[in-house]
Amino acid sequence: MEIEPRSHQKPEPVLVEIEPGFTIPDFMLAEVQIKLAYADEHIRSASVQPELIRLQVEAEASQPELIEKVQRIVESLAKGAIRPKTQILEDYMDRPVPYKADPMPELIRLAEISQESPGVFALGPLVTRLAGYFESQFLALADSFQAAPYRFPTLIPARYLERVNYFRSFPHSLTFATHLRSDLDVIDRFSQEAACAGGELTASPDSFAAVQNLLSPAVCYHLYFALADKPLPQGQVIATAVGHCFRYEAINLTSLERLWDFTMREVIFVGSKDFVLENRETARQRMREAFERIGLAYRVENANDPFFIGEFRKQAAFQSAFQLKFEIRVSLPFNQSTLAVGSYNYHQDFFGRSLNITLPDGSPAHTGCVAFGLERIAFAFLAQFGLDPSGWPAEVRQAAA
Ligand code: 5GP
Ligand code: ZN
Repeated sequence: MEIEPRSHQKPEPVLVEIEPGFTIPDFMLAEVQIKLAYADEHIRSASVQPELIRLQVEAEASQPELIEKVQRIVESLAKGAIRPKTQILEDYMDRPVPYKADPMPELIRLAEISQESPGVFALGPLVTRLAGYFESQFLALADSFQAAPYRFPTLIPARYLERVNYFRSFPHSLTFATHLRSDLDVIDRFSQEAACAGGELTASPDSFAAVQNLLSPAVCYHLYFALADKPLPQGQVIATAVGHCFRYEAINLTSLERLWDFTMREVIFVGSKDFVLENRETARQRMREAFERIGLAYRVENANDPFFIGEFRKQAAFQSAFQLKFEIRVSLPFNQSTLAVGSYNYHQDFFGRSLNITLPDGSPAHTGCVAFGLERIAFAFLAQFGLDPSGWPAEVRQAAA
């Protein structure tokens, strides 16, 4: 596995090879690879093999420190890791699909996508219509539950995320929103001096106000906060919303597969344990029919959220043991890999307890959500069916071409 180098111009990197001293199990290779992006700012690319980690590193890096941080990540994630039980709920990976190439070069050539900065893309008409088609499928799913529509902000207060332990679980992917301090001298100085160098704003850090809000990493959190600290109306809620979500992914931000700023549609269930689990299952069955009509090659399997290293092992084992997360992993024929385009999630009573959302009997509410990434599903579809609508399934062609 390779991470592409960062695009901006820096001196030639040097190769650093690290032997972890134990064998990284195959099921942890991808997770180690992803987390190495956060080890040290001087790492430009990384490739992980069971016995060897190869890094391209900027020459001025302090290698002993960097190697120690890499070792810490690898040991924390992979040393003595126990293979999680794979649970496959649906397997349609064998469905024949007509396309084999990587859609990225063609999308760039046709100006169907343009990169504004790493992980930030503008989408052209073809991809936009395709994302709109999938959005209509997810809206039909939401309608089948008579889900109540919501609109949520892009910003989310820091105190909200603190209440649900987000800083401990996912610190690496946070994105902070700030503004200039409300001080005439600060604003005047900024207006005179602010400039961009190498894509970075050159302004004094003390010009900026303390962070009160972040860019939201998920849609369903906003619903849980709207329901916090009171009894749940009628003891159950089904809601739906779409929103921009932000997860910083450092040097892993290379294609539509991984975006810093992406769009997520969610259908959200709040109520008793049985209510949430039954609806999560019904949602999966309904989406199975939608994917069958399209002819998508995919499987649904158990998964875990991308917890940071200190929390990863414990939380991932917990999610796996209690079957809390299943991902829709769509086949990418061009590199024989899969891409998660959506997930079926059950949070037990975590949000109900953390946010004091109560059922009529006074116990904490259970929650679950089904979440779909619109850019990812459009990308995965293009990877299987190509950019020429004449090769698309009739239903998609009629709706999106
Ligand atoms: P989850 O809550 O399961 O982490 O995310 C739900 C869905 O959002 C994922 O299955 C995926 O489709 C989408 N998503 C999550 N992270 C990213 C990302 O970094 N880039 C893109 N394009 N989509 C993402
Ligand atoms: Zn959610």
